[in-house]
Amino acid sequence: MPLHADLHRHLGGAIAPRIFWRFLQRNNHPLMQRFPEYELFEKYIVAPRASLTEFLELHTMVERVQRIDNLEYFITKLVRGAYIFEGILYLELRYTPYYRTDERLSQQDRINQMREVVRIITSCSKQSAYPLILKQILCMHSRLPYEVNRATLDLAASESEGVCGIDLAGPDPLYKNNMDDLVSLFSLAREIGLKTTCHLYETRDGIYPELLPYLNRIGHGIQIAMHYPELLKQVADRDQCLEICPTSYLKTGTLEDLSALRTVFDRCRETGVDIAICTDNPGLHNVRLPFEFENLLTQDVIDFEQLQMCHAASYRHAFGWPYSEPPDSLLTSLDLLSKKHTAEDRG
Ligand SMILES: [Zn+2]
Repeated sequence: MPLHADLHRHLGGAIAPRIFWRFLQRNNHPLMQRFPEYELFEKYIVAPRASLTEFLELHTMVERVQRIDNLEYFITKLVRGAYIFEGILYLELRYTPYYRTDERLSQQDRINQMREVVRIITSCSKQSAYPLILKQILCMHSRLPYEVNRATLDLAASESEGVCGIDLAGPDPLYKNNMDDLVSLFSLAREIGLKTTCHLYETRDGIYPELLPYLNRIGHGIQIAMHYPELLKQVADRDQCLEICPTSYLKTGTLEDLSALRTVFDRCRETGVDIAICTDNPGLHNVRLPFEFENLLTQDVIDFEQLQMCHAASYRHAFGWPYSEPPDSLLTSLDLLSKKHTAEDRG
C-alpha cells in the first residue's frame, strides 16, 4: 500500500535515466549522438558534481527535452513509477513553467503559454489506475527577470486546482543580485495566501536570512542546523519545515557523506523543527524515496522514531494534502495484520 509523501521533487530530475534515454532514442534526439549507449548516459547523469551551479546544468539539459508537446509522456511515466515503485501517495512536483514553453516565442508569448503547461500537467497527472495525488509547485528562477517571476506567481495563484505553492530555484549565488525583488515577490505571495518554499541555506552560498520570514517551508535549510543553529528557534516558532533531500547533497558537492546530516536531524529534534525527507531528483540521482529513508536508517543518521516523525511531518506540512490526517501509518497496518493473525489463530 502506498504510504509515502514527497514534498520536494523536480520534474527535470524525476525521470529514471533509462526512461529518459529511451525517449531520446525513440525520437532520434540530437543528444543520441553524444550518448549512443545507455551506459554512457547513465554514467554522465549520476556522476557527482562539484557545486550546485554545476549540477543545475543537468536540469537545463533535461528542460530542453521536456517541452510542452511531450510533457504528457513524462508525467504519465512519472506518476506510474512513483506510485508502483516508490509507494508514493502524495507528490508535490516542482518546475519552472517558463522553461517548458516554446523558446522560439517572445517573452510575453512564453508567459502566456505557461498556463497551458500547468493545465497539461494537472490533467495528465490524474490516472485512475495510479491514484496518486499530484500537486504542482511553480518555481520562480534566479536567472529569470522580475516580470517572468511575477507572472509565475500570478499563475500559481490562479491555478489552484493543480498548483499548491511557489518556490525559488536556480543558482543561489544569483539571489543577491535581485534580493529586493525576491523579498517583494515572497511577501506578495504570503499576502495573497499562496504557500511558499524556497531553495535556501542549501549550500554555503545560499545564506539569505532576509527571505526566511516569508516561507512556509524551507527547501533544504541544512546550513541553518549545521552552521547557524541560533536560527532554529525562530524556524520552530514559525512552524517552518525543512525539506531534506539526502542524496542531493552528495551529488551537488555540498556534503561528503551522509553522516554530516546527523547533526541536522538531532538539532532539529532538540529544537522542535520538523523535517520532511524528500528526493529532489530521484531520476538524476538514481535513488528513490524509500531508499532515502533506508539509507538514513542503515547509516545510523536517524533512528526509527525520527523516521516516523519525518513521515508524519511530510503530511502535516504538505501544501495540498486534502485530509487532516496522514494515511494509515505503517504501525496501523501492522496492528491490523496482527489482529488478523490472532483471529485466524482462534479460528
Ligand atoms: Zn530542489
